Amino acid sequence: MVQVSRHDIVIVGGGGAGLRAAIAAAEANPDLSIALVSKVYPMRSHTVSAEGGAAAIARDDDNLELHGFDTVKGSDFLGDQNVIEYFVENAPRELALLENWGCPWSRNDDGSVATRAFGGMSTKRTWYATDKVGFHMLHALFQHSMRFDNIVRYDEFFVTKLLVEGGTCQGVSALEIRTGEFHAILGRSVILATGGAGKIFPFTTNGTIKTGDGMALAYRAGVALKDMEFVQYHPTGLPGTGILITEAARGEGGYLRNNKDERFLVEYDYGVGDKAELGPRDMVSRAIIQEFEAGRGFENQYGSYCVVDLRHLGEEHINAKLPFVRELAKTYIGVDPVHEYIPIRPVVHYMMGGVDTDINAATELPGLYAAGEVACASLNGANRLGSNSLTECLVFGAVAGRNAIDFAKGVDEGDQSRLVAQTEEEAARVGALRGNGTGSEKISSLRLEMNSAMEAGCGVYRMQDTMATAAVATRSIRQRAADLHLRDSSRVFNTEIVSALELMNMVELAEVLSVSAADRKESRGAHTCRDYPTRDDENYLYHTLAHRTEDGPRLGRKEVKLGHWVPQERKY
Ligand SMILES: Cc1cc2nc3c(=O)[nH]c(=O)nc-3n(C[C@H](O)[C@H](O)[C@H](O)COP(=O)(O)OP(=O)(O)OC[C@H]3O[C@@H](n4cnc5c(N)ncnc54)[C@H](O)[C@@H]3O)c2cc1C
Repeated sequence: MVQVSRHDIVIVGGGGAGLRAAIAAAEANPDLSIALVSKVYPMRSHTVSAEGGAAAIARDDDNLELHGFDTVKGSDFLGDQNVIEYFVENAPRELALLENWGCPWSRNDDGSVATRAFGGMSTKRTWYATDKVGFHMLHALFQHSMRFDNIVRYDEFFVTKLLVEGGTCQGVSALEIRTGEFHAILGRSVILATGGAGKIFPFTTNGTIKTGDGMALAYRAGVALKDMEFVQYHPTGLPGTGILITEAARGEGGYLRNNKDERFLVEYDYGVGDKAELGPRDMVSRAIIQEFEAGRGFENQYGSYCVVDLRHLGEEHINAKLPFVRELAKTYIGVDPVHEYIPIRPVVHYMMGGVDTDINAATELPGLYAAGEVACASLNGANRLGSNSLTECLVFGAVAGRNAIDFAKGVDEGDQSRLVAQTEEEAARVGALRGNGTGSEKISSLRLEMNSAMEAGCGVYRMQDTMATAAVATRSIRQRAADLHLRDSSRVFNTEIVSALELMNMVELAEVLSVSAADRKESRGAHTCRDYPTRDDENYLYHTLAHRTEDGPRLGRKEVKLGHWVPQERKY
């Protein structure tokens, strides 16, 4: 027996994008009921761990044109310019709104909002609350969401399927992790706000929960995933754990050094050459790998690394602006950046690709919307600029909330019995996995195999043959993941079953990513192909779409929306 509940809209995800969508919807119509479903308690969503800041113009030397152009250029001209224009225009309002709801933005002495520089920016544009920005933003959103009685939370519910009937999305099936019961959570429209998928790679800043569930849910429901080949490496993660040393460390004046104690980025050629540590993430990550390859990296049990040097900033500045960096370095590797170097290496940080959405946060499936890192509205193109993502969650979370409400107004409740029948099938499918001792594959082994296939095939530098090998390997891993061996047969908090479902989601995405990557024979933004080292606008200025078939992804193309920023060589 499955439990059935009915709402007007169902939002999957309680991070920055999901909460912003819920608030927008609740404000738009207090009479409608909004379900907010999350596999973890909302405050544990990955947004909480963001450190550096959120982008929006604030200073006299900045303007919408500059923010727009920096974003287009950062995207290596693959961003959709209508989306970028909408984003930069709405960004300041969203960040101000967040302050009204309690987010304590750091201030200058004259009371104006303090901003710091991030990579690839023309001026200081990143708003911050010391270096615990995600915590403060999520807290403000979560507190504010509690003012609305019409937001009904389903905490620790794992969504396993989108319910589609008559060509529209009408709810979700979800496993209540605490009890093992299945629920049909029905609505007249659905928003995915489930975040990214960094965990398909071995070294990542991403929390364990970032397994790309929403991307896989949409993909299985027939919706295209877009631009999945573009994976952002953050230049400065701790070796071993991947824990992030925020870009704010460089924004506040930190240096990167190699094993010769050289500030090597000063010499590195971004085309113009004066950005050094403030180059964009894709370029800085490539420079670090080049240092490793030239034998100028340090070595430890996790491989090669370089170091961040903050010593010249002084204890007072570090404590005022980067207290969390100091805390993380001390706690996780036992170094105090006031006196010592912090070891770092490029680690997977962010998925530029995701569920194909348009400027309205709408997908190709009527009734299904997506926002935040799960979505690919084509704001970030081939490379995201640091601090645009938190703002994106707000701007497009709000868009999704409002449009999902509008859609819900225009449709009737579907045939409940068929939606419930679909959920019963889900309950049976997932139930059969529980404690299933007959399968032959171990979750942990397949995860490791997937991780190494991705690192070897689709890392910072890629080759046609490494990507093709990864595509073959991930396809076989996906097929083998249908035969998992599970041992825990309990219903209550069966985390093994959650891991199995997450793995099944990740293996789908790993395959899409490597197949999409192998198909792009050029270098653009974060996709750097050694066999095709230059950007090829003539043949590849398009978005990659991937639709699911049983035999693997079927690739297609979508036009890039250009505008008044004409593609040019990307130099810093
Ligand atoms: C360490 C770190 C630091 C960062 N720092 C910055 C920064 O300074 N500035 C910046 O702009 N960006 C930063 N980013 C990126 C940015 O934080 C994220 O892209 C953004 O917070 C994603 O928000 P989201 O709402 O899309 O998803 P998340 O915050 O990841 O939330 C996803 C939600 O979906 C739910 N969910 C997922 N799957 C399911 C399922 N199957 N069933 C039910 N619920 C599900 C989860 O429970 C969660 O509530 C950082 C990222 C990391 C990892």
